[in-house]
Amino acid sequence: GERLKAGLARTRQQIGGGLANLFGLRKIDEDLLEELESTLLMADCGVDATQYLIDDLRMRWKRDRLETADQLQKALADGLHGIIAPLEQALELGSHQPFIIMIAGVNGSGKTTSIGKLAKYFQAQGKSVLLAAGDTFRAAAREQLMTWGERNNVTVVAQEGGDAAAVIFDAINAARARRIDVVLADTAGRLPTQLHLMEEIAKVRRVIAKADPSGPHEVLLVLDANIGQNALAQVKAFDKAIGVTGLVVTKLDGTAKGGVLAAIARQCPKPLRFIGVGEGIDDLQPFKAREFVDALFE
Ligand code: GDP
Repeated sequence: GERLKAGLARTRQQIGGGLANLFGLRKIDEDLLEELESTLLMADCGVDATQYLIDDLRMRWKRDRLETADQLQKALADGLHGIIAPLEQALELGSHQPFIIMIAGVNGSGKTTSIGKLAKYFQAQGKSVLLAAGDTFRAAAREQLMTWGERNNVTVVAQEGGDAAAVIFDAINAARARRIDVVLADTAGRLPTQLHLMEEIAKVRRVIAKADPSGPHEVLLVLDANIGQNALAQVKAFDKAIGVTGLVVTKLDGTAKGGVLAAIARQCPKPLRFIGVGEGIDDLQPFKAREFVDALFE
């Protein structure tokens, strides 16, 4: 709770603080709703979610005869919760062994860091983990993963140079031989506009399915919250190429754009498995809509 609240300080300042400034001693009226609309847009809720929230708020204002700032804030919190609650779908490891999780995203979104955090998260649940260093474009990414693996006693399957699909294929076979529970497969960062790289990651996915016809069991897209509305285009493009089954939104600390979750929920909903609220190993949390809203408003 407290950690999340601290992490979300800037989005809270944008939405919750913006709200407090708006009210002062004013009464609720159309002008106030209009200013609130700007506040939500600045927090990257996006036009669609913002319009929905304002309409919802206007309806509640009239229906419930809201008068105080507290009442309006609670109504806004409820409206936001209503929008983002469907994103709350925890990642359950099914019965597949190994359970293969493919991780994709643009460079710098936080893939490698999130893999380290996820490895720790699954280990804490008593699961064995193996990492596949599928980012074969950046030697630094491979080294980052290997260092992390050594420090935490997690096997990392890597190759110098080579082909991402081959590394991940080998990693899945190694995991099967060792009866490992979870494979976390890193991939190189790429932009949706780099079509040949999007084709390449589609091939990685197909090769995973060759190594294990039931896999991948989860395709996680890692999004940096700071990109705001661009997140929507990324979700759509990666979904088309590899069939995204879950999202990780990182760097929600230090951004005022936390409203992007509302935009995602309205325009390209995917289960939001985890949120990143800091660089520390424990700063990746399963997404809880109510906690998120409370951290913004309380
Ligand atoms: P990759 O290129 O997608 O593998 O990105 P990295 O995992 O290397 O992360 C890029 C930078 O973002 C690193 O400096 C990470 O420490 C930082 N980072 C990742 N997740 C978070 C987060 O949730 N909060 C903050 N503040 N930084 C993060």
